[in-house]
Amino acid sequence: MKYISTRGGAAPQGFCDILLGGLAPDGGLYLPEAYPRIGAAELAEWRDLPYHALALKLLQKFVDDIPACDLKAICDRTYSANVYRHCRPGGDAGDITPLTTLEPGFHLLELSNGPTLAFKDMAMQLLGHLFEYVLEKRGESINILGATSGDTGSAAEYAMRGKQRVKVFMLSPEGLMSPFQRAQMYSLQDPNIFNIAVRGMFDDAQDIVKAVSNDAAFKAKYRIGAVNSINWARVMAQVVYYFKGYFAATTTNDQQVAFCVPSGNFGNICAGHIARMMGLPIARLVLATNENDVLDEFFRSGVYRPRTTAETRVTSSPSMDISKASNFERFVFDLVGRDAAKVRELWAQVDAGGSFDLRGTEYLEALPAYGFASGSSSHAHRLATIRDVWTRYRVMIDTHTADGVKVAREHRTPGIPMIVLETAQPVKFAETIHEALGCEPSRPKELEGIEALPQRVEVVDASVDQVKAIITRNC
Ligand SMILES: *Cc1c(COP(=O)(O)O)cnc(C)c1O
Repeated sequence: MKYISTRGGAAPQGFCDILLGGLAPDGGLYLPEAYPRIGAAELAEWRDLPYHALALKLLQKFVDDIPACDLKAICDRTYSANVYRHCRPGGDAGDITPLTTLEPGFHLLELSNGPTLAFKDMAMQLLGHLFEYVLEKRGESINILGATSGDTGSAAEYAMRGKQRVKVFMLSPEGLMSPFQRAQMYSLQDPNIFNIAVRGMFDDAQDIVKAVSNDAAFKAKYRIGAVNSINWARVMAQVVYYFKGYFAATTTNDQQVAFCVPSGNFGNICAGHIARMMGLPIARLVLATNENDVLDEFFRSGVYRPRTTAETRVTSSPSMDISKASNFERFVFDLVGRDAAKVRELWAQVDAGGSFDLRGTEYLEALPAYGFASGSSSHAHRLATIRDVWTRYRVMIDTHTADGVKVAREHRTPGIPMIVLETAQPVKFAETIHEALGCEPSRPKELEGIEALPQRVEVVDASVDQVKAIITRNC
C-alpha cells in the first residue's frame, strides 16, 4: 500500500515513511492510493471479532511494511481492556467500545473509555505504540511539538508518556482549559512530558507551533514532529470503530446503519467516509456541528467558507470550535474524483483566506452519492438534550455527544439504526453538565481529586523564542 498526497506533488510513500511526518511536502494530506474493498466473506468473518483482532484485520489492509506478528503485538497492547477501563457506571468493562442502546434503533457508541476520557485516545494510543516501534527500528528519536485547547494535548501526553525515544512539548493557553483538563495534563510527572502554558489564547499557541515548524533548520536539528489530526495513522485507527459499531448495532451484514458524528476538524467522520468507501453498509453519515457550522453549511449549500479565528465562537462544546476543518481536504479529494489539480486550485483559495463554491458543478451533483447529511446545534440545544437524555434514559452525555444526539434525531430513517458516536465523558465538561442537570457528573475513581495533585507546567509569554529555549534546554 502506497500513500499519495491530495495535492499530487509528493512521491508515493510507504506507511512507515509517512507515519512520523504531518503534511506531505507539497502541503497536501496523505491518503492510500486506493481504498481496500472489504467483501461479504471478510465482513462475515469479522463480525464477532474482539476489538484488537478487528483492528489488526483492518490495519493489515493499510500497513504492509510492518510484519504481521509485530502489528498484532501493537494492536493487542493498544486495545487492551486495561487501557479502556473507564466505562460508564454499570457498563460492560470488557468491551473497548460498548454500544449503549437508548431506545430501539437509537444507540451511543462509547469511544471515551480510555485514559483521558475522550475518543482521541482511540487513535492516539495506537500512534504512541507505532511511533515507539518505528523509532526503535530506525534508531531515531523525535520531539513532538503541539498546541491544545484541551482534549488533544492530554490524549497525546498519555499516549507518549514514558516512551524512551519521544519527548512531548505541549503548549496550552494559560488558564483557559477546565480545571479537570489542566490537572489531567499538568499532573503528569513523566520526565519526557513538558507542559508549556502560554500567556494568550489557543491561536497564539498554535501560531508558535507553526513558526517553530516553519524554521527548517531548527526543525531538523531538534527532530520536531507532530501528532495533529491530519496524521494519517490517526484517521486509519478510527476506521476500526465504525466496523465495530456496525457489527454491534446489527445482526446480519444485509443491514444498513447510519452514524452521527460530532465534528470539528473532520478527522472522525473522515474515517467513517473511508469505512463506507471500503464497503461497510453505511446508509448515512450525519455530521453534527455546534454554533461553528462551517461544515454544516458546506453539506447544505456546497459552499465551503472557513471562518477567521475572530469569527470562531467559544462554545460549551469547545473541541468542535474550529474555523477551518483540516481533514476536510481528504474528503474533497475523493469528491472531485481524486483530481489533485482541482484540490490545489480549491485550496489555493482557502489558504489565501478565501472560500470555494461548488454550486452548479458536477462535484456538487456527485455529493449525494457519498451519503452525507448534516445539522448544527447550540448551547440551548445542548442543555435541553443533556436533560432529555438523562430524564428519558438515565444516561449522562457530554456536550459534544449532545450536539450529536440533537442532530441525529433530525435524521432518523425508519428501519435504519442510528449510532451516535460518544466523543467524551461528561466529567470533562462538568460546568455545563451542572448547568443542565444541577448535579456533578460522576468520575472514574482513580481520577478523583486529581485537581489537588502537584502540577508540572512552565508559563511563558506568547513568544517563539521562549518556547524554542525550552526545547533547546531539554533536548
Ligand atoms: C476532537 C473532538 C471532536 C471533533 O473531532 P474531529 O475529529 O476533529 O472532527 C469532537 N468531540 C470531542 C470531545 C473531541 O475531543
